[in-house]
Amino acid sequence: MNDGKSGFTIERRGLDLRFRSVRLTAREWLAPNYVRVRLSGAELEGFDSPGADDHMRLFFPAGLTSSVEELRAAPSREYTPLAWGEDWLDVEFAVHGDEGVAAPWAASAPLGSFVGVGGPRGSAVLVGEPGSWLLAGDETAIPAIRRFAAQIPAGAPARIVIEVASSADEVAIEAPVEVEWLHRGDAAAGSALISFLDGLGEADAVGDDRFCFIAAEQAIVKPGRALLARWGTDVAKAVVKGYWKRGEAEYHAPH
Ligand SMILES: Cc1cc2nc3c(=O)[nH]c(=O)nc-3n(C[C@H](O)[C@H](O)[C@H](O)COP(=O)(O)OP(=O)(O)OC[C@H]3O[C@@H](n4cnc5c(N)ncnc54)[C@H](O)[C@@H]3O)c2cc1C
Repeated sequence: MNDGKSGFTIERRGLDLRFRSVRLTAREWLAPNYVRVRLSGAELEGFDSPGADDHMRLFFPAGLTSSVEELRAAPSREYTPLAWGEDWLDVEFAVHGDEGVAAPWAASAPLGSFVGVGGPRGSAVLVGEPGSWLLAGDETAIPAIRRFAAQIPAGAPARIVIEVASSADEVAIEAPVEVEWLHRGDAAAGSALISFLDGLGEADAVGDDRFCFIAAEQAIVKPGRALLARWGTDVAKAVVKGYWKRGEAEYHAPH
């Protein structure tokens, strides 16, 4: 529903939940710890992801599975569909050391490896045009930020702020405004972005009728919500989400 004053709403849409078995067909390193992979297969026909911050569940079985049940029993993690066509799907992974399932798979699984794709099963779609934009996140939010950035009309007031470890970790992002990169160095993940958000006062609001997307390590949620409150931003016009949690494998963000 549009309230008459605002130029946009976030509309929730359900999607048919489907499970697809695909193969890893290409890998391109965009930075030393950031890799884009291409997944390919005929089962991707009909794949759709209408919302820029949609997530799907990627399953990492040891080999080809013979049933959806077997596929769903494999370890899985949440990722953002970046781009797709009839038989391909690109995904970008923050590679964070040897820990975990998804990141090591993205870094080193042999081309041809099987992977399962579940969902997305729901979408939050921006309908209409926000008056202004704040997109803020860490490496794990770059795919969603890329998708939102592609929707920002030229000339719209917008800030895109991304925390990475160092300048070597910056990646090219197509956007109508320059990305502001924050470097955390050896400090805890999220710390640079938290300081940035905490430093934004009422007068720093990016513009009117704003859409805010803030996603990073779970500690970002509190300062993210505090910023919305300072700016008087309707939480229904914003996404503030922990995309992972320090020390916790397979973190499930509350939806
Ligand atoms: C809606 C949503 C969309 C997401 N989209 C993407 C995406 O497109 N690309 C992407 O890279 N990630 C994305 N993530 C984050 C991703 O799901 C997590 O980082 C996931 O935990 C990685 O799984 P893993 O098997 O590599 O590590 P896990 O087995 O889950 O964790 C192992 C250890 O690594 C730590 N860890 C996990 N992620 C990171 C990290 N990024 N940096 C440092 N330490 C970490 C954990 O705290 C844990 O101690 C998304 C998350 C959500 C909720």
